[in-house]
Amino acid sequence: MRADLNVPFDKNSAEKVISDDTRIRSVVPTIKHLRDAGARVIVASHAGRPKGKVNEDMRLRPMGERLGELLDTDVTILSDCVGEQVKEATDFMLPSDVVLLENVRFYEGEEKNDPEFAAALAESTGADMFVNDAFGTAHRAHASTAGIADHVSTSVGGFLMEKELQFLYGALDEPKRPFAAVVGGAKVSTKITVLESLLDKCDTLLLGGGMIFTFYRAQGLPTGDSLVEEEFVPMAKQILEKAKSKGVDLVLPVDVAIADKYDADAKSDQVDMDAQSAGGIQDGWMGLDIGPKSIDLFREKLLNSSTVVWNGPMGVFEFDAFSKGTFAVAETMAELSTQNGGITVIGGGDSVAAVEKSGLAESMSHISTGGRRKKYNEEVRSKRLPGH
Ligand code: ADP
Ligand code: MG
Repeated sequence: MRADLNVPFDKNSAEKVISDDTRIRSVVPTIKHLRDAGARVIVASHAGRPKGKVNEDMRLRPMGERLGELLDTDVTILSDCVGEQVKEATDFMLPSDVVLLENVRFYEGEEKNDPEFAAALAESTGADMFVNDAFGTAHRAHASTAGIADHVSTSVGGFLMEKELQFLYGALDEPKRPFAAVVGGAKVSTKITVLESLLDKCDTLLLGGGMIFTFYRAQGLPTGDSLVEEEFVPMAKQILEKAKSKGVDLVLPVDVAIADKYDADAKSDQVDMDAQSAGGIQDGWMGLDIGPKSIDLFREKLLNSSTVVWNGPMGVFEFDAFSKGTFAVAETMAELSTQNGGITVIGGGDSVAAVEKSGLAESMSHISTGGRRKKYNEEVRSKRLPGH
């Protein structure tokens, strides 16, 4: 079984403390089902980007231990994912036993979807069946998510995959309108496909996070020491124009919370970001969150929507002083789905972590374990779904 156990860790702790175990919890139903059916369950996953080499910091032991707690059973955690150790451990498995393989991205063949590595995974584990429940990784054709299907007799999707797809093809393909999207996060470069696909679908697009400074730059506003991706300024311009031509209400924050350094204890202030007047951030300051006027503006826009999807925090929510925008969006969305009958969907590792931290996860319609979508849809449609 391929799971996506790529969970975030507490950045403030030297120990490996999982800060959000949503991804691990979300594959438990599939593993339970397999164990109840008497299967010997061999779980594979990646974590981080070790680039084909063993990286001590990216071992799956912490995830395996958490999985064992959730399943209330001993999970055998291996230090390799192919070869003799795997053969031995899997040969001796009894029905309902659970073995966790080591990070598949410790081998170059994983991300290259190398057929030999895919064959080695199948052979070392002796797997009869491949269950793909790694929704968060399903937009990538790698050896353990795609290639392996050529080396086992039966390949199926798991329950998490099923649930996520039902949501995507239902609520988001034919959304109840008005349909608003909130996109934040660190960099615009990682969200281009998300933004483009949303521009084709949504009525309102609210932007926050580090990416907004590339947009402000595109509008000629001073951004001080904020995160700007210079080479993506033309792309930001294009997105602004595309929104206009498609009649999408693209909203940039009208004010931002700024800091004199990237630090939890930084000195902070607020500035207006208004393309019409002389707003902007001075050198020596950086924007780390959306400001109070923007919080009110976003709230008003979101409460007027029937469907809201959200990916990417509004600010550096890891620092309390700059978490207000992120938590305000979470609160507004919770209100929308619990009191106004709206549909709220959240995706993305850090966004989900923020919502879990806010304690409002239960109030959302759907918390997705995946991030980016566009490529994923095409790939899954063409090759992953059983019978398709
Ligand atoms: P997700 O995992 O939900 O898709 P991303 O990984 O794209 O989200 O972005 C999350 C990160 O963006 C957070 O760690 C947060 O600190 C960072 N971030 C948000 N706003 C800013 C900002 N103004 N400047 C720098 N980093 C930011
Ligand atoms: Mg992230």
